[in-house]
Amino acid sequence: MISEKMIKMAEGGSAIRAMFEEGNRLSQKYGRENVYDFSIGNPNIPAPEKIREEIISIAENTDPMELHGYMSNAGYPFVRSAVAESLNRRFGTNFTGENIIMTVGAAGGLNIVLKTLLNPGDEVLVFSPYFLEYGNYVSNYDGVLKAVPASETDGFQPDAAALYSAVNEKTKAVIINNPNNPTGVIYSEEKIKELAAALEKRQAELGTSIYIISDEPYRELAYDGAEVPYITKYYKNTIVCYSWSKSLSLPGERIGYVVIPNDADDSALIVSAAVIANRILGFVNAPALQQRMVAACLDEKTDVGAYDRNRQTLYNGLKSAGFEPVYPSGAFYMWVKAPDGDDKAFSQRAKKYNILFVPGSSFACPGYVRIAYCVSHDMIVRSLPAFKKLGEEYGL
Ligand code: PLP
Repeated sequence: MISEKMIKMAEGGSAIRAMFEEGNRLSQKYGRENVYDFSIGNPNIPAPEKIREEIISIAENTDPMELHGYMSNAGYPFVRSAVAESLNRRFGTNFTGENIIMTVGAAGGLNIVLKTLLNPGDEVLVFSPYFLEYGNYVSNYDGVLKAVPASETDGFQPDAAALYSAVNEKTKAVIINNPNNPTGVIYSEEKIKELAAALEKRQAELGTSIYIISDEPYRELAYDGAEVPYITKYYKNTIVCYSWSKSLSLPGERIGYVVIPNDADDSALIVSAAVIANRILGFVNAPALQQRMVAACLDEKTDVGAYDRNRQTLYNGLKSAGFEPVYPSGAFYMWVKAPDGDDKAFSQRAKKYNILFVPGSSFACPGYVRIAYCVSHDMIVRSLPAFKKLGEEYGL
């Protein structure tokens, strides 16, 4: 018999695969242009041209032994330093390359951090709705994930009082995802200050260290000039997990980094353990070519304006069809109320109109659905009459 834990995970994974296969089935039957697939967070904006140019130039101009060889498990020192300097320029922080570990995307970063921090039975808190993979990542290291509901009445902002009450002596970390998948909400500076104060207070009462793990693949996807607070400036026990998967449309390249500030409790120990975790989890180090490439592209940006246009067209279309979407201020997701509260039935009914989106139950928050609008603007426009018919079915 194979691992019982993995049998359960494989069962969970098949729901996403089923959605993917459903999209393909509908496309074959009705033609791809007549299927409106909003299920996956795969960026549709091409990576900036400079990415391709740098990859070619690095491949052509770097000594092959240097380009392809093993390296320090933390990553190339010059890349780590370049990342630290870029953060310092943008956020007024004071990092050096020693604070940075290059990782295999944000998922790789989260896994090395959780492996570094957790003893079996340690608790990790997260605001729901949340990216459901967190549960798997935490259980990889025999931790226990506990969800604290974000405040529905406060536009899905995190609730510091609820967080305070959920912390106990077993709490090792709190995962914060800002801008948020699936709600598209940006946690405001005021909220981050409240969360930091609640955790400081709880740390002092319990005499423990509680780390914020700030998962930030959507950091640069913020609209209307919204600021995404840099959490290390508000709470010293913060570890940042970043990736370029969404910000430069590179999810298949598996490149990101972790920031472990000097001020964090046991900082040096965390850095050395996280470097080992990178190796022993089998990542070994982040991909060599991609490290060199991102170091040359730290000032590159994706076309946030295109996502913004999608955001507005979809939001206005859904509103005029009678739905109740949360107006997103970041990422490329829209969080929409299921008209009769049944998110699974809503997702099922949408398929009749060839619309695919993900029920909120897949983010531990029934009653809503997530619509990923990292798709072509044209597809959004074409989908609106179908949304209208779906709304009519609910009497909207
Ligand atoms: N965290 C969140 C909230 C995500 O939505 C994703 C990917 O969709 C990840 C982490 C994983 O990102 P990466 O591709 O960088 O591993």
